[in-house]
Amino acid sequence: KMTFTGKNVLITGASRGIGSEIARYLAKQGLKVWINYRSSAAEADALKVEIERDGGKAAVIGFDASDEEAFVNAVKTIVDSDGSMDYLVNNAGITNDKLALRMKIEDFESVIKANLTSTFIGCREALKAMSKSKFGSVVNIASIVGETGNAGQTNYSASKGGMIAMTKSFAAEGAARAIRYNTVTPGFIQTDMTNELKEEIKNYYIDKIPLKRFGKPEEIASAVAFLLSDEASYITGETLKVNGGMLM
Ligand code: NAP
Repeated sequence: KMTFTGKNVLITGASRGIGSEIARYLAKQGLKVWINYRSSAAEADALKVEIERDGGKAAVIGFDASDEEAFVNAVKTIVDSDGSMDYLVNNAGITNDKLALRMKIEDFESVIKANLTSTFIGCREALKAMSKSKFGSVVNIASIVGETGNAGQTNYSASKGGMIAMTKSFAAEGAARAIRYNTVTPGFIQTDMTNELKEEIKNYYIDKIPLKRFGKPEEIASAVAFLLSDEASYITGETLKVNGGMLM
């Protein structure tokens, strides 16, 4: 087990995929997990039941992470309930892939808002909430595509590259209060997001991955848990690649 000074964590987009696995993993580490969802209420409720059945602590909190007022209210709800918000994982994210020549400005801006603006709001509200306790740690889930770029993903890569740089800026601002900010950049992970890819495209990417497979969501969760934990107490502003060697 890893060591955690804090007691609770908010994970955005935790109803499915990587976020739900982060919730399971952190609950097993003894943290109370606040499961955020936007539309998958049934999945979020089922996850809470599962975590509690396994002896963990969980609560469900529905809001759109790109809605400033909703996010601010959610952090307030958590602090009112538990006395603090100790950890935050900004995981909620979407894709809307198309070649740049066909990409409308709305296609670009909506992905920036869902991925980058939501993360900004979360990081800022965490800085406020965690400043009071002079303790806290935030992990943002970006992507390998934010490091390399990718055809068909000018919007998504811009949002994820922005997250990587923004996390370092928050790390610089949070450091005086001992609040750490780090990024995890997953490669290709088995979730609904990548299940949409055609078989030939999946095989094309697998060929480029030295470990010759897509990652599992729990392989992201363990990296997130490490960065949040006391074991990573001297790590801030870092970008941790979890990609099977696809980018070294
Ligand atoms: P996913 O299976 O599509 O799940 C996305 C999750 O985000 C869902 O729980 C969804 O909730 C939630 N969500 C989306 N927009 C939201 C919003 N505005 N407010 C609150 N929740 C929202 O995706 P995933 O593959 O697990 O991806 C999770 C994160 O990892 C994303 O940031 C993604 O960019 C990143 N990532 C994924 C991969 C990969 O290969 N899968 C690789 C690199 C990075 P609802 O269903 O309730 O809407």
